[in-house]
Amino acid sequence: FGLLRKQDPELAQVLLDELDRQRGNLQLVASENFTSPAVLAAMGSTLTNKYAEGYPGRRYYGGCEVVDRAERLAVQRARELFGAEHANVQPHSGASANLAAYAALLQPGDTMLAMALPHGGHFTHGSKVNFSGKWFNVVSYGVRRDTELIDYDEVRDLALRHQPKLIVCGATAYPRLIDFTVFRCIADEVGAWLLADVAHTIGLMAGGAIPSAVPHADVVTLTTHKALRGPRGGAILCTEELAPKIDRAVYPFIQGGPLMHVVAAKAVAFAEAMRPEFADYARRVVVNAQALAEALAGEGMRAVSGGTDTHLALIDLRDLDVSGAEAERRCARAGITLNRNVIPYDPEPAAVTSGIRVGTPCVTTQGMGSQELKEVGTLVTRAVRQPGRAAEIRERVSALLAIHQPYLSEY
Ligand code: PLP
Repeated sequence: FGLLRKQDPELAQVLLDELDRQRGNLQLVASENFTSPAVLAAMGSTLTNKYAEGYPGRRYYGGCEVVDRAERLAVQRARELFGAEHANVQPHSGASANLAAYAALLQPGDTMLAMALPHGGHFTHGSKVNFSGKWFNVVSYGVRRDTELIDYDEVRDLALRHQPKLIVCGATAYPRLIDFTVFRCIADEVGAWLLADVAHTIGLMAGGAIPSAVPHADVVTLTTHKALRGPRGGAILCTEELAPKIDRAVYPFIQGGPLMHVVAAKAVAFAEAMRPEFADYARRVVVNAQALAEALAGEGMRAVSGGTDTHLALIDLRDLDVSGAEAERRCARAGITLNRNVIPYDPEPAAVTSGIRVGTPCVTTQGMGSQELKEVGTLVTRAVRQPGRAAEIRERVSALLAIHQPYLSEY
């Protein structure tokens, strides 16, 4: 870092300012985390220099014998960690992983059944603004209005009526467990492939805190940078039978050279997630999310579906007469980073919303426990309800963070 500061002080300052921002604010974005210094070291390595189109032992460039070892380690560790027959660790992101999985299983115009974006699905699950919504005939399921839980009867009815070639389960803003066994039965009943996009929850599954999708789905797509606490990136797990199709879909169909420094960092993160401390971490992420949801509910901030089984809670702000966008701004002024989020049957558009999403992967990495999360619940409520007290809340946030720093040194 000293070198960078000397050569390019302007850019070095950006890195320092971002580090300050991460250290100086309470990070409640459910899809973020603090990677370990070891993951950062692999990301900042000379492996970034190497072109390695293809797969280990089958590359289209010379000089790949060393980076091959990084990818073999990543693949081997991913298979062991997730209990998967096959792993492809090259997708640059979760969206790329989904694009490749669809490309492996579908033809343009085919029908897929997936969770609606306004009910918690991801935009790569068939939104019109995304390739998935443009290239495929997408049928969407949602949650029930009364329970705010996935309506499995509706999923089955839609599957029987539309005979999709692919059923996608997994979400970006769904606080409850997804019953992969039910999805498996429905997929089998209509002869569809089952894809579980567990970008958000794979870390909890790896740590054994919630049931895994891997034994039930034909294909599992994931991101490595959320609760899993690895580098920014994606991966695909699948059966041995689908492995050649998935590999060809990632390269050469949608990607060129893999990011070997990121692949190496994925290997580091997978090894970290195999340690007993990570299982403890995953369990604490869920306990903390439950403590936070309870604390918020106790202060009149209702959790959608009444709580959470995972790392995130979705908070309905309609009774407070504050939009999600305004709550996000008020929290930011108080030193709390979170995101607005649509809630099921939201009367407001996506840019405004009636909800916020809070998650505990970051604060749990920082070592906070249920007691601290109770206080976090009070601080979030106060920030949303009493914007005039932002400065005072910011001070309490700083006091809390002073003893829970994510990174001790400058990198
Ligand atoms: N799938 C789900 C369920 C997600 O929540 C996300 C990101 O939030 C993605 C896919 C996309 O991941 P990325 O942002 O790495 O493309």
